Amino acid sequence: MDKMRVLVAGGAGFLGSHLCDRLVAAGHDVICLDNYFTGTRRNIAHLLPDPRFEAIRHDVTQPILLEVDWVFNLACPASPVHYQYNPIKTIKTSILGSINLLGLAKRVSARILQASTSEVYGDPEVHPQAESYWGRVNPIGIRSCYDEGKRCAETLFTDYRRAHGIDIRIARIFNTYGPRMAFDDGRVISNFVIQALRGEPLTIYGDGRQTRSFCYVDDLVEGLLRLMSYEGSDATEPCNLGNSVEYSMLELAELVQDLTGTQLALEFRPLPEDDPVQRRPDIRRARRNLDWEPSTKLREGLARMVEDFRLRLKAGEPRP
Ligand code: NAD
Ligand code: UDP
Repeated sequence: MDKMRVLVAGGAGFLGSHLCDRLVAAGHDVICLDNYFTGTRRNIAHLLPDPRFEAIRHDVTQPILLEVDWVFNLACPASPVHYQYNPIKTIKTSILGSINLLGLAKRVSARILQASTSEVYGDPEVHPQAESYWGRVNPIGIRSCYDEGKRCAETLFTDYRRAHGIDIRIARIFNTYGPRMAFDDGRVISNFVIQALRGEPLTIYGDGRQTRSFCYVDDLVEGLLRLMSYEGSDATEPCNLGNSVEYSMLELAELVQDLTGTQLALEFRPLPEDDPVQRRPDIRRARRNLDWEPSTKLREGLARMVEDFRLRLKAGEPRP
């Protein structure tokens, strides 16, 4: 791969910081842009001494011009707790952020990738979800600020391609987990791991039979890089990236207890509004076009995450 100048918007977040690591390690010049809403400088502190890495505090809802070859747009809070904290800001981040970064890409002729999401499929009637499925999304629910913002971002990306020939990529990312997830982000894996390490009951929303498919962060970042480099005739079409092995939340709770050597009570809580019942990606497109599929088993990835959470707690990072 040639040496690129790469902008990672949302680069101090969970996925963004792992992506910055990979890009810097590959010899690229990386600019991380972040407003530190859900990301933290701790995630990128180890990269700051590297002359190939630069961090800018900036909010993507404001325009910015930078000379780069590639743009990854990951700027957006991703966990339901975080994106519902200020829903108007969340949707502005997806929409104004996309418009500003697409404007930048247009001005400097950069290739630009949007971190889209399985949430564009909403609470799906089709299983597993292929890219051809248009989804079932509530436009006025508590998840809509995120889902509809991400759907609109896909529309903007596609219209900028049609109108201005912008070289776009759209990754529809399914639930991803791993080291550096925020302790307080409220996502199921981070909740279960922190609860298990504190010896607290595991909180199960609903009856725990809803399913998700969990992808380890290193696999996901590999997929993002392959998609960004892919030049096939359908390169600008959305591409699912995720793990196709499906777990119920009850199965996940069992696995976390097994890995942490705990036997904890399960605390059942009401299922949040519009919580999807079933989710699993159809990754045939990514397999075919990118020769990609996740290789990390949930048990293996979870063990690494438990280790990361243990070390961070020991180092005094505040608990939620
Ligand atoms: P994250 O919250 O850790 O990272 C998001 C980053 O964007 C944070 O560093 C945050 O401070 C920054 N940010 C938020 N609003 C911003 C703004 N207005 N201007 C500048 N920076 C801003 O979440 P993540 O899990 O790393 O997700 C990264 C991206 O991937 C998001 O766009 C998310 O929607 C997408 N995604 C993630 C998952 C997943 O399971 N992790 C699944 C689907 C899609
Ligand atoms: N969930 C749960 N306990 C928790 C947090 C989440 O049972 O402590 C459930 C949640 O209701 C959802 C699933 O786990 O059905 C995945 O939730 P997460 O917030 O991780 O991701 P998303 O719903 O966005 O896929």
